[in-house]
Amino acid sequence: MLASMRWTLLLIATGCAGFDPDNEPDFTGYSEELCTDAGVANLNINISDSETAMLVTIDGDDLIALDEIRDPDGDVVLNWNDWYTEKNYLTSAVWPLSGEMVLNWPIRGQDAELFAGQWTVTLAAVDARGNYKSGSCMNATVQSKEDPSFATATVNVRLVYANGVDEIDEVTNAVEAAIDRWTTLWEPYGLYPNVRITTGDIDPDLPYVGDGSEDIYTITMDSYEDEITLVIGDTIEGGTEYLGVAGSIPGTLTANTRSAVVLGWIASAGLDGSFSDLDISIMGETMAHEVGHYMGLFHPVEQTWDSWDACDDTPDCRGKAECESELGTNLMFPAPVCDFNDCLAQDQLSDIQVEILQRYTGAL
Ligand SMILES: [Zn+2]
Repeated sequence: MLASMRWTLLLIATGCAGFDPDNEPDFTGYSEELCTDAGVANLNINISDSETAMLVTIDGDDLIALDEIRDPDGDVVLNWNDWYTEKNYLTSAVWPLSGEMVLNWPIRGQDAELFAGQWTVTLAAVDARGNYKSGSCMNATVQSKEDPSFATATVNVRLVYANGVDEIDEVTNAVEAAIDRWTTLWEPYGLYPNVRITTGDIDPDLPYVGDGSEDIYTITMDSYEDEITLVIGDTIEGGTEYLGVAGSIPGTLTANTRSAVVLGWIASAGLDGSFSDLDISIMGETMAHEVGHYMGLFHPVEQTWDSWDACDDTPDCRGKAECESELGTNLMFPAPVCDFNDCLAQDQLSDIQVEILQRYTGAL
């Protein structure tokens, strides 16, 4: 990853004469190695007075899950057992899904705020049958931000066109209009996407990034440490089943095999291959939706209509009709809600959803 390079390049590009301390990123990170004893490893994190949110990324040889978080007073502020089988999802970190685990803390406003001292994140390594593994080693990266208000944030995004996609004018024009839609949609919530448009050497049939992909790891090595990577290709996994996919909930700001959001433009343009105003609007909503996952948001209700997010201000509806009526305009609703002519604008976020987005360590 490119760390402090960003700021140097900006000074050169703008011909700026002097060093402006206000331009320093309020964002830091470091890595260390840990190994489990009796199945768990403790990651000790020293938090200063000014650090307000942290992002922990683990890369382990075995399946890794969050066991618990303790504050500097020794109080447990999150225990896996409270969320592992809960039907209201708070973070995917409690599930041993892969060797790559990502945790942002705090998550909601009601969760324990960071305060100065040594925090402990306990991590479990388990095998495929769910048995704890001792002597299992992992790399831990801790990134943190200083953001005292959580009221407004710029979210830096590196948009990467896959091979050849940047040469299709209709797509690049639609993408730029979709970024405008995303910007308008986020503005009432104090969020601003700052998008840097680039190209990258990746096949335009993009991988399902939630399963992990070495190509995603390689692409995101060229992103800055405060950027979310958004890859635009033709299709995802050879088809148009998905408008977009986020690597994990939340996603990391370092490079791993899930460190991106992917979006296939053909799914947005529809069968005719051209972009209507509605297609562009949905593409902008998809960008905001998938980056919303990456910043920690679950769907307010999953399409099985029997599991929900952990936001008390999004209703736990049941059934398609009830959920479309109560949550169909929410940005994080699992699918567009359309009739033959039109689709609902999906641009609403609840107060607690906004709390989660603002607390994401990459919301600066
Ligand atoms: Zn989604």
